[in-house]
Amino acid sequence: MSEVTHPPASAVATGNSEFLLTPGPLTTSLATKQAMLRDWGSRDGQFIELNARIRRELVAMAGGTDAHDCVPVQGSGTFAIEATIGTFVPADGKLLVLVNGAYGARMMKIAQYAGRAAVSIETPENEVPDVNELDRYLASNADVTHVAVVHCETTSGILNPVAELAAVVSKHNRRLIVDSMSAFGALEISVDEIGCDALVASSNKCIEGVPGMGYAIVRKDALEQCAGNAHALSLDLHDQWKAMEANGQWRFTPPTHVLAAFDQAVSEHKAQGGVAGRGARYSENCRVLIDGMRALGFETLLPDALQAPIIITFKMPADPAFDFEVFYDHLAARGYVIYPGKLTVAPSFRIGCIGQIDQQDIKNALVVIEETIAAMGVKQCGSMAA
Ligand SMILES: *Cc1c(COP(=O)(O)O)cnc(C)c1O
Repeated sequence: MSEVTHPPASAVATGNSEFLLTPGPLTTSLATKQAMLRDWGSRDGQFIELNARIRRELVAMAGGTDAHDCVPVQGSGTFAIEATIGTFVPADGKLLVLVNGAYGARMMKIAQYAGRAAVSIETPENEVPDVNELDRYLASNADVTHVAVVHCETTSGILNPVAELAAVVSKHNRRLIVDSMSAFGALEISVDEIGCDALVASSNKCIEGVPGMGYAIVRKDALEQCAGNAHALSLDLHDQWKAMEANGQWRFTPPTHVLAAFDQAVSEHKAQGGVAGRGARYSENCRVLIDGMRALGFETLLPDALQAPIIITFKMPADPAFDFEVFYDHLAARGYVIYPGKLTVAPSFRIGCIGQIDQQDIKNALVVIEETIAAMGVKQCGSMAA
């Protein structure tokens, strides 16, 4: 059972014999990987155009207008969140973070590292932030200048009501920062409609690029006011923006191969129907996965109404024959890489449905899961002992 079998290829070639059923990095197309086979000079005219094209396409994908721009930054998604908080929240500002998982908690930690005053409203991981509670909080706390929300909290896979929360933030005339890392590109959101100062995402989630850069889709008039705010030179989005506007180049060595791959991934995203097309494929993946896992007896953490079609949390089976490490290793050996849980509310594991995978890949994964639990001698997959 430990031999690597080669699962049938997806509709789009990936060049892999493995599927990453994780929240990123994830399975990318072969063409995206092949786009990295050229060494670009960072001052090359074609590379500068490629960079500008990516920025334009991301603004359009986010529902932005001429009032918006895209500012990229080197590093993983967290670097872009850290750059955004440090650049947008001034030293005398105060950030309110709506926390219902690890990524909200991480924004609190980032604010504290940067020496910014920060408070949180916490909600359990299987519940969304309460719009009325936010309304009351902002009404009685005039010192809060900025609010940060997570779009899809990848910790559980829950879909937070960003548009409703944004309406409350704008009603109270505060600034909004959205961590849309694991949702952007698959779930509709319009920076123009929700009126955020910044929406942050990265190359390696729903747009299916390779890891190495993040970016903020910003309101230019808001970023214009942020000169001198940042606590770190390399994470100063205002400086990054001004320099890029001046000569089209990154201030410091750009992740050239990552950008070349991202350019290909962005064009595939567009060709496959944009956000609606991507969202439809992931929703099908999610449906097939949840139905199949429930048929095997597994339980989801979340009710379907709160579930984003990104990553699904399953409760750990109570059957003593179920050992997650063994389960994980067997699936990985057969080409399906899943993800441990990160919850505090219940023991769990996660299976992602994003990346260059389709419902046939999920069906194949379900067959392997069924064979694996049978081989482990697991009799029932429910989370309560029978
Ligand atoms: C992936 C992710 C991040 C960034 O994580 P990195 O590991 O730094 O790329 C931030 N927020 C959310 C909601 C995420 O899913």
